Amino acid sequence: MESAARAPKITATQMQASTHTKLFFSHLLAVALVSGSIGTYFYTSAINNLKNSLQSRLLNSAAILSEVFSADKLSQLRTPEDTREPVYALLVERLRKLADSNPDIAFIYIMRKVGNRAEFVLDSDAQEPALPGELYPHGLPALMEGFRRPSVDAQITTDKWGSFLSGYAPLHDGRGEYLIGLDMKADQVAAKMQQLKQAGAISLAVSLLLVVVFASLLARHFNSRIHKLVKRCSEIARTQLEPVGQQRPGDELDHLGQTIEAMAGHLELSREHSEQAHRELEAGQQELELRVQKRTAELLAANDKLREEIRERERIETVLQQTARTDYLTQLPNRRAMIQILDKEAARYQRATHPFSLVLLDIDHFKHINDSFGHDGGDQILVSIAERMRGWMRETDVLARWGGEEFLILLSDTDLASATEQAERLRASIETATFSIQHGETRITASLGVAGYSQELDIDSCIKDADVALYQAKSGGRNRVVSHREL
Ligand code: GH3
Ligand code: MG
Ligand code: MG
Repeated sequence: MESAARAPKITATQMQASTHTKLFFSHLLAVALVSGSIGTYFYTSAINNLKNSLQSRLLNSAAILSEVFSADKLSQLRTPEDTREPVYALLVERLRKLADSNPDIAFIYIMRKVGNRAEFVLDSDAQEPALPGELYPHGLPALMEGFRRPSVDAQITTDKWGSFLSGYAPLHDGRGEYLIGLDMKADQVAAKMQQLKQAGAISLAVSLLLVVVFASLLARHFNSRIHKLVKRCSEIARTQLEPVGQQRPGDELDHLGQTIEAMAGHLELSREHSEQAHRELEAGQQELELRVQKRTAELLAANDKLREEIRERERIETVLQQTARTDYLTQLPNRRAMIQILDKEAARYQRATHPFSLVLLDIDHFKHINDSFGHDGGDQILVSIAERMRGWMRETDVLARWGGEEFLILLSDTDLASATEQAERLRASIETATFSIQHGETRITASLGVAGYSQELDIDSCIKDADVALYQAKSGGRNRVVSHREL
């Protein structure tokens, strides 16, 4: 369809004119050539027939006249003076009557053979007659043959009497010495030829006119049919493919039209198939798009769910990590968490020599508290003392439950002396504080061992130092602070 749209634009009228002209001139040329050839043939034949007919008339007339005249009396007429002979006048008179009786004949004459020439004996010409004994200047082959048998000129010949076509025949009793000749005037021959030419020209003109009419009708006929086919092809190019008209047997153009219709049918079928395939493809694409959208939504939902699960897992992991690092009772960092914190602090010390100290605290006679208030009461004391100690300490200090009723305190940026002072203040605070338990109150004391971290120590050794100091505090009577340096 596109290629048809891009085809060079030739209007139907232009095409029609061009085809019409070509058809017209080709038919004209063909018929003119044929009729011209035939006409030329018949014209030439007619001319030849006319000439043959004239020649045969001359020949027959000469032959007939050769029987009329006798050679006996002619031997007397040999010189111009012999014109005075009575027989001359008699015979000339007969010749003239014969000549006058036939309007086609100009002159009739009798000749005698003299060697290889001929001389006149009698002549029908009244104006300028050839006299007896006058030699005819031309040794014409047909003339000389006329002494032996009837003959006729092949062409018009001209002599001093004019232009003629002549026939000759030997006199029946002339023994080859006498002949009779008849001249037909060339202008009469030419007139007959002219008549023939005019008839030929008229018939040629009529046949040319007929040829023009015929060629025009033929050109119109074929052009109209070709135009219909072109129109149909244009319709097909504009996708009007429904078959039109009825199929009927005919010539090649009918066959071409039927072939075009068949082609249009095939195009229509393939267009329908193509449209069907296009519709199916579109439906398939829509279905695929819907499936892709649905799948995408499912994947997005799954992705959201997965992300939610990951967040939940991370949250649980954080909680678990927190739980794993936190003491369940006091919510303080547990022993494991404290070890990690201490390792980091030791590393910080290695980098910048930030001093720090450890205080190990153990509640005195805790068994007694448990015994007095029960295990739950002991738990309450543990929770309560943890909260109090948190309040008494700096933000930067770290308090951890080391185990049982033991607490380990990290004092950042604090040397041993300061740490001992702070431990003392802590001990005093505990001693003076009261703790509410089961509708009552109680007091407790604690013993504290202090150790300062130094480059020579590792964390375990430092903790051990604090433990040794604590042991000393217990040994020394409890409710006291012992610095490891004092040992
Ligand atoms: P001292 O330290 O002064 O020598 O005497 P003590 O009675 O505190 O002795 P010890 O350290 O040997 O005993 C600690 C007691 O603390 C033993 C144990 O039953 C109790 N205890 C340890 N953990 C808990 C706990 O989480 N809750 C309660 N209620 N009691 C605990
Ligand atoms: Mg203990
Ligand atoms: Mg104790």
